[in-house]
Amino acid sequence: MTKMHRVALVGNPNSGKTTLFNALTGASQHVGNWPGVTVEKKEGKIRQSHGTMLVDLPGIYSLSPYTQEERIARDYLISQRPDAVINIIDVSNLERNLYLTTQILEMGIPVVIAANMMDLVEKRGDRFDAAKLSKIFACPVVEISALQEKNIDQLVKVLERQILKPNKSVFSLPLPPEVDHWLSKIEEDIKQGCFQALGEAPYRTLPLRWLSIKAFEQDSLLEDVVDLTKEDMNLLQEVEDLLDDDGQSIISSARYDFLADIFKQIYVKKEPDKISITDKIDKIVTHRFLALPIFIAVMFVVYFISISTIGTLMTDFVNDVVVAEWAQEGSRKLLESIGTSSWLVSLVSDGIIAGVGAVIGFLPQMATLFILLALLEQCGYMARIAFVLDRVFRKFGLSGKSFIPMLIGTGCSVPGIMASRTIEHESDRRMTAISCSFMPCSAKLPIIAFVAGAIFKGAWWFAPLTYFMGIFSVILSGIILKKTKRFSGDPAPFIMELPEYRLPSIKGVVQSVGERLASFIKKAGTIILLSSMAIWFLQTYGWTGQGIAEVEINQSFLAKIGNTLAWLFIPLGFGDWQSTVATFTGLLAKENVMTTFAIIFGVQGDILDLIDESAWSTLSAVTGHYTVITGFSFLAFNLLCAPCFAAIGAMHRELGSASWTLFGVFYQTLYAYSFSLIFYQLASFVSSGVFTLWTGVAIVVLLVWLFLIFRPDPDKKLSGIRSQAALES
Ligand code: GDP
Ligand code: MG
Repeated sequence: MTKMHRVALVGNPNSGKTTLFNALTGASQHVGNWPGVTVEKKEGKIRQSHGTMLVDLPGIYSLSPYTQEERIARDYLISQRPDAVINIIDVSNLERNLYLTTQILEMGIPVVIAANMMDLVEKRGDRFDAAKLSKIFACPVVEISALQEKNIDQLVKVLERQILKPNKSVFSLPLPPEVDHWLSKIEEDIKQGCFQALGEAPYRTLPLRWLSIKAFEQDSLLEDVVDLTKEDMNLLQEVEDLLDDDGQSIISSARYDFLADIFKQIYVKKEPDKISITDKIDKIVTHRFLALPIFIAVMFVVYFISISTIGTLMTDFVNDVVVAEWAQEGSRKLLESIGTSSWLVSLVSDGIIAGVGAVIGFLPQMATLFILLALLEQCGYMARIAFVLDRVFRKFGLSGKSFIPMLIGTGCSVPGIMASRTIEHESDRRMTAISCSFMPCSAKLPIIAFVAGAIFKGAWWFAPLTYFMGIFSVILSGIILKKTKRFSGDPAPFIMELPEYRLPSIKGVVQSVGERLASFIKKAGTIILLSSMAIWFLQTYGWTGQGIAEVEINQSFLAKIGNTLAWLFIPLGFGDWQSTVATFTGLLAKENVMTTFAIIFGVQGDILDLIDESAWSTLSAVTGHYTVITGFSFLAFNLLCAPCFAAIGAMHRELGSASWTLFGVFYQTLYAYSFSLIFYQLASFVSSGVFTLWTGVAIVVLLVWLFLIFRPDPDKKLSGIRSQAALES
């Protein structure tokens, strides 16, 4: 057996790393046209080779440890020292991409440059001289298109050669002679063993040049290891004075100068002065005043199409024909014809099929939403929104980076919460992990569709409204939490380069939609299935005094449980046992809210009854009190309160402690409760004119929240002084 080789995939965000990773390993990781999608390090075997492992590192612009991603990538390269690196570059953005390349090459690890997006370059008619680049950098360059899987085999071949027989010549960045002189002296010192620790792992394998450059930059990584002498420091100071810049900037400008120079030699644009289509579109969609209205309009259209038009048409079909006629009726007949006992028929038909079917029925709406979101993400529009919202969020102490987890969270909160990992500031990261699940995830979609259809008569504006209610809640929480000690501090600057608009690839959309649908179906087959069976059992049986027996639903275990807890929700208007049980089962999975209703109301034959007005009459009749106001209050609470257990688990992982997680769940539930309470009580007061004790309580709660929102920031004075100082310096 040959030794297992490890290869790291390194490149800028959005350079096509994940696409290439998938092409090489056959995995199906999430691909998105914006930075920050790959959060975790992922590993896979390269299909085209014998036992080479590929590690997908987070996307980075440089190896200076400013951001968490950069630190992760750099630590990996230094301490794990892979056998080789595939440095993927986006050739249509060459200059910026090569910045990182120079830094990787300096580390002395064998590199193969994968020049990606060659299809775009060819389409534009530009010319890229790979041979010349290869000569300048003394490393192999393979032109590929990760998307079209072009030249991937060639890449692997070159990679294998590079692992077995790495070329010896090392790239060296041209630097001003004064700097060079200083570096040589340090290199000599290192060789003499002046900095003993540098002779040990993990530094031993790093080239002297790299170490000396880091010393010149006074890199934090070497702080504890290299103790420069007074003389060296003085000399360094002299060089800095002479070049009128600090060490780090001197090196980085040298890099830029060098790259600007070689760029001219290796890349020729066909139409150099053409304003790109991307710039033209961006003039409009990131416009100071138009950007937000456009975003709002886009999201309205997205939700309108998914919930009210195409999605519903398909949902009708799935419900009427597939679930009701084929599954429910079919299985009932089949089971009855083979003489199955009646309780089993009921379990299958009224429990499992009604319960699981109630959420499967919403699959077309979810799929439509996923497709539209994937299209927006892939073409590059969503990256603009993060940028546009940064302007808004910043006013409230949040950064645009918080939007990325929120957007991912519209699919499922779990990956959304995980994506908060890319936020540098700890307090911002925590805040985002806590508030991210306010966004309506796809599991909440059935509840939205239900309330929209049954209570708001399918009003076109209703579903989008819930999306903005989520964003509103995130912003509001930002304002409130930022003023507390735990979360204070200015948001980190948000730097994100806007990718070019691209036609979304069908493969990418299919992959992203498929991934989300698959996890939904898996959930339907496990948690929701089990919940359906449990709910069916609890609502069919009860305690009769002699034992457990089939009872009337109001005497069932489920009703008993619900009634014991229903008082909790009386102030919110839905203190009946049905809604109470539905809310609690939502903690297992939010889909369960609809599952519970479907089973309790014994939806026979037509689950669609649930999402039209007749359902509302059922609900009103059964519970005796449902109104439009109650319905919205119920929806708001269920959308905003603690997320499902899976998401709470993700929160726990990201927040890293039980007390933070408890705080998060408590905050979310308190927020949801206050929101519904204020809405329900005030709306009831306005519509009925009756002032009750609870109206008073709601007003007090409202005042408390208003205070929390508008009170002066205790930290403001400080940060004001800080930014003033920053301006002056
Ligand atoms: P990552 O952020 O580096 O992981 O980049 P992704 O793999 O997520 O890709 C970013 C975007 O570039 C996606 O929209 C891809 O479909 C697109 N993309 C990746 N490789 C190519 C390519 O070779 N040609 C073109 N035209 N697009 C590509
Ligand atoms: Mg990626």
